Amino acid sequence: MPVSTPYTRFQKTLEEVMQKLKLTPKERAFFAKPQNTYKTEIHIKRDSGKEQAFQAFRIQFNNARGPFKGGIRYHPEANEEEVKALAALMSIKTAVVNIPFGGGKGGVQCNPKELSRKELEAVSRAYVRAMIRHIGADIDCPAPDVNTNPAIMAWMRDEFEKQTHTYSPAMITGKPLSYGGSLGRDTATARGAFFILQEMMDREARDPEELKVAIQGFGNAGATMAHFLHNAGYTVVAVSDSQGGVYSPEGVDPVRIEKYKHKTGQVAGEYCKGSVCDIKRMKLDGVRHVTNEQLLELPCDILIPAALDNVITAKNARKIRAKYILEIANGPTSPEADTILEKKGVKIVPDVLANAGGVTVSYFEWVQGRSGELWTAERVDNELRRIMLDAYKSVQREAHRGNMTYRQAAFAVGIRRMVDAMHARGWL
Ligand code: NAD
Repeated sequence: MPVSTPYTRFQKTLEEVMQKLKLTPKERAFFAKPQNTYKTEIHIKRDSGKEQAFQAFRIQFNNARGPFKGGIRYHPEANEEEVKALAALMSIKTAVVNIPFGGGKGGVQCNPKELSRKELEAVSRAYVRAMIRHIGADIDCPAPDVNTNPAIMAWMRDEFEKQTHTYSPAMITGKPLSYGGSLGRDTATARGAFFILQEMMDREARDPEELKVAIQGFGNAGATMAHFLHNAGYTVVAVSDSQGGVYSPEGVDPVRIEKYKHKTGQVAGEYCKGSVCDIKRMKLDGVRHVTNEQLLELPCDILIPAALDNVITAKNARKIRAKYILEIANGPTSPEADTILEKKGVKIVPDVLANAGGVTVSYFEWVQGRSGELWTAERVDNELRRIMLDAYKSVQREAHRGNMTYRQAAFAVGIRRMVDAMHARGWL
């Protein structure tokens, strides 16, 4: 069996959908590989005075519909294959929500936990200098991703403006509010996913008060989603972070969990130190400790992976009890699991649709950066809702018409829009 990588998993759905859409060989060629791959070493001076080199990537998959768009990830295992898959997914995602961008992604192979703030700033500025000819508001607009944040985006914009002697607020998104950021960007991914889930439950006449949700990952996206769901009347039965999680069939309170996480650094930190838990206290509070693997298999209606990729696989797909999976993480479900879950009748809202709220509000930030406008939170929320629901309806129509899963239908909507742009531009 060929080795499964994020890119081979992307290609599996891509191939299925290209066949369904009967793409010509010339059209297919544009999806075979990224348009541009930039790989280089960046060098910084560590606090110790020693010089250190890091591998840095920027991969531009397709810009038929507009400038490349996608985050920059800092991770010890960031590699070309992973960045390529994420760049490809971004191309589909921007097309699914119909915003005028292509797809790209960046990465630096480093462990940010081992870098001081000064070293992190040096890495971020060196990355911009290394990629300066390939990025910019009209060329390729980066954003935060795993282990990067608004502070890093601010250093990057500052470095870009210094190097190019320009005022360029739209060269990067996910910036702090004080330096060109947009209201609503921090909650955008969860907000977008929440709009889609609400619409889906409305259409299926499901009452939030009767629905139980388990969420893997209690970071920016997962924790925000837990609050939205709790406030809307859903019962959040389980949440977790990298150390494991807590489960209560009666529901956990995200506000309390947030406090515990703040106090102890862990979702389950109020009750457990590592795997040793205060069972008596847990019983009193009506909660149980669960591992991340157990969380996925809990009795619930809606499962929300919001942490890592490739967590729902052929190994556990049969044991999943949820009827809906809302993919906030990128690539959480393997193609084999997809097939098993489809047979079980589980409805999956795929990553390229479910988590597209983040890039959509990045687009609003880009628009504000170019126009000098400042949008209100209400305007961001209304526009986000409109775009997410339009995308959801397009995917639903496509799924119905082509007898496809939501993942295939989302790819079909995206691919078709990309191919149309390529024809319009005379590339084909
Ligand atoms: P984050 O770093 O804020 O949070 C990640 C969470 O996952 C943390 O709670 C962490 O403890 C948990 N985690 C880490 N390792 C884990 C493990 N082994 N098992 C279980 N949990 C683990 O990240 P985020 O911004 O919330 O992003 C989460 C996912 O959503 C990622 O896959 C990301 O690519 C995707 N996503 C995020 C955005 C966004 O705007 N934040 C947009 C699109 C997609």
